[in-house]
Amino acid sequence: MAVRMCGFPKRVSLDDALRTIFSHLKPLGKESIPFSRALGRVLAEDVVSKVDIPPFDRSAVDGYAVKAADTFGATSTTPKKLRVVGTGKPGSKSELRIRKGEAVRLMTGSPMPRGADAVLMAEYAKPVKNHILALTSLTPGKNISAKGEDVRAGETVLRRGRRLRPEDIGMLASISRLKVRVFRRPNVAIISTGSELKPPGTRLNTAQIMDINSYSLAAKVTSCGGTAERLGIVPDEPETLRQTLQRAMKHDVIIISGGSSVGEHDLAPEVVAEVGDLMFHGVAMRPGGPSAFGVVNGRPVFCLAGFPVASLVAFDMLVRPALWVMQHLPPDWSSLRVKVKLVRKIPSSLGRVDVVRVRIWGDSGKLLAEPIRVTGSSILSSMTLADGFVIVPGDVEGFDAGTTVEAQLYS
Ligand code: AMP
Ligand code: MG
Repeated sequence: MAVRMCGFPKRVSLDDALRTIFSHLKPLGKESIPFSRALGRVLAEDVVSKVDIPPFDRSAVDGYAVKAADTFGATSTTPKKLRVVGTGKPGSKSELRIRKGEAVRLMTGSPMPRGADAVLMAEYAKPVKNHILALTSLTPGKNISAKGEDVRAGETVLRRGRRLRPEDIGMLASISRLKVRVFRRPNVAIISTGSELKPPGTRLNTAQIMDINSYSLAAKVTSCGGTAERLGIVPDEPETLRQTLQRAMKHDVIIISGGSSVGEHDLAPEVVAEVGDLMFHGVAMRPGGPSAFGVVNGRPVFCLAGFPVASLVAFDMLVRPALWVMQHLPPDWSSLRVKVKLVRKIPSSLGRVDVVRVRIWGDSGKLLAEPIRVTGSSILSSMTLADGFVIVPGDVEGFDAGTTVEAQLYS
């Protein structure tokens, strides 16, 4: 049940904010796409191989196909002599058959000739006219990639819910799986509000500011598997924002940057409350506290503070988990976490989550981290200098120097 709620500065905890957001998300549907375009997409089905990989027994090395028993007891001082009866090549089906005391020269990947059960590496074979001397003893199966040893027909190679990596695209190619069912990408509209904003490339007068957020947020969306459409810059006028919000209704998610605080022109949450349901306004976190979330026509709408750092941190903490969940992934799917030892203390206040950007480096096998000194949430270079961030929970009063804590890495 949607509850219309206004009233900043009654801030919700980050956990409650996320619970509220998750309860209003609709997981996205499925679509079928060519496997070669499926990088970063989330599988909506188990992929089962119909074929064996490799499809036939083949040599894993350059050398000679032999009967292992013919090499038993061979060493460099007591070699075994074998007669070379032919040469096999990758890509051509072997019609050759070997009998006792015979060998066939092979390249890596060549099909095994009938009768052979091992491959002698070229390094252990000394050619003498049309013979070789085997300098080592082989066990049956040695240096053969057996049919189906990689993947067996009927085997599940990739499971539903997997976000496909380059390696997986190779696997799909190897089993000739031309189309895969994946979950749809979240399609995200980004609206930048602020009468002072101009697009990059503009010569600014003294009162104007470059619109950073619609670009950094669009890039964030892309990195989370979504597609972003920037709907442009909207001045601080409720009517224009209302109209732009209506235009955004064909998207799955809407992000409004700027105008989310309690200043005179902080109109985004008010417009959301007017045309839909505002679920919270203000989160007990820093930076990114003046964030709001609402639902308009069933669509999640995030209002993020205009300060570039605040908008990025709020994205990481609120929007990114939502985008993963919509793609049927766990909310913390991408978070790469490492243990770091703090070289300086991180101060924090009780009652709010602090997201502290840190520089991380290795020193004699340990990772060290240093909080980046900033005064306001407008220092964008604190983000580009940072390797990751440390979350100080609401019930912790900071961390002392020397403490080992968990950091999440920016990829
Ligand atoms: P607001 O949240 O609208 O009160 O904005 C807070 C601060 O962030 C103001 O100094 C704005 O000029 C700045 N700001 C707002 N939106 C953007 C944006 N898209 N890019 C860069 N700075 C912004
Ligand atoms: Mg503004």
